[in-house]
Amino acid sequence: MEQHLDIHIERREAKKTKPAQDQLGFGIHFTDHMFMMDYTTEIGWHHARIVPYQPLVMDPAAKVFHYGQTVFEGLKAYKTEDRRILLFRPQKNMQRLNRSNERLSIPLINESFALDALKQLISIDQEWIPSGSGTSLYIRPFVIATQPELIASPSSHFQFIIIMSPVGPYYAEGLNPVKIFVESTSVRAVIGGMGEAKTAANYAASLMAQEDAKHNGYAQVLWLDGVHHKYIEEVGSMNVFFKIKGIVYTPALKGSILDGITRDSILQLLQHWNIPVVSGDISIQKVYEASREGTLEEAFGTGTAAVISPIGELHWHGQNLVIQNGQTGELSNKLYQTLTGIQNGSDPDLFHWMTEVNMR
Ligand SMILES: *Cc1c(COP(=O)(O)O)cnc(C)c1O
Repeated sequence: MEQHLDIHIERREAKKTKPAQDQLGFGIHFTDHMFMMDYTTEIGWHHARIVPYQPLVMDPAAKVFHYGQTVFEGLKAYKTEDRRILLFRPQKNMQRLNRSNERLSIPLINESFALDALKQLISIDQEWIPSGSGTSLYIRPFVIATQPELIASPSSHFQFIIIMSPVGPYYAEGLNPVKIFVESTSVRAVIGGMGEAKTAANYAASLMAQEDAKHNGYAQVLWLDGVHHKYIEEVGSMNVFFKIKGIVYTPALKGSILDGITRDSILQLLQHWNIPVVSGDISIQKVYEASREGTLEEAFGTGTAAVISPIGELHWHGQNLVIQNGQTGELSNKLYQTLTGIQNGSDPDLFHWMTEVNMR
């Protein structure tokens, strides 16, 4: 883990054409370079390099294809008005990557080295960071098991890769409340499973219900716990919050949901504003009753991609619970403005969340 790693840099000869700033989309375009390093049981992590963005050549027996031994992260870099480049709590992503690694029997990476490698990659591809309002550079670090062998045991070979994609605002017309389908049949994860790891399998488990919801006009699925089908877990790939009678509720981290960095930041902001928060069990029944009594004031999802995603309507057992008349609530809006203001450098960094990338 502590061996010194030099990063070999191979620059691309002809740069790619960059997409127009108003046509970025999300995770469609990729920058000129990528970071990679390899792992073998004998050597550990080695051969750290920044190379032109390119396809991977892999043996079809590589374990990642068959047994899903893989983890990922997602974070963003922002270009400020005065042309600085900021990362939002990147140490947290590297720590979480290692927690996911641990759960999937993947060797740990050196977190500060990985962050340093990321900064170098950003510096090389800095022209790719968009500067329009609501835009950023989305960063996707991931690890894959590359040993070619069909025995279901942990791989002896891995690759750690970082790719980056310039992204537009998640919602073109600003904060836009979405309709959510409460899924009562299939589940995403259970305690003891992999719900708290950021790994492909959790997403694979969610695709079917997600597609059904889309066909019926819902943007996302709200997941309930896998044992009782009663307690709220997450919404799509976001953590979820409900404001009932002035108190903000969010499911506790008990092993089946992801420890979101946006979630943690929102808890800190709420505490800072002296808004009461409860992190604990919250049943869908409670939300339903609050909605009937008219005390369900706001609901929103949180995650790196959308930051805040207000929920305008929940569909549960044939009933539609409309929240805030389908409008964005005051708190959702304030959280969104505050967090994005800190992230893009226009507001003071009260909590020391931002890390500046030095341009070389
Ligand atoms: C990534 C992710 C989140 C959000 O985490 P952030 O760190 O806030 O981006 C929430 N739920 C799931 C399942 C995720 O994969």
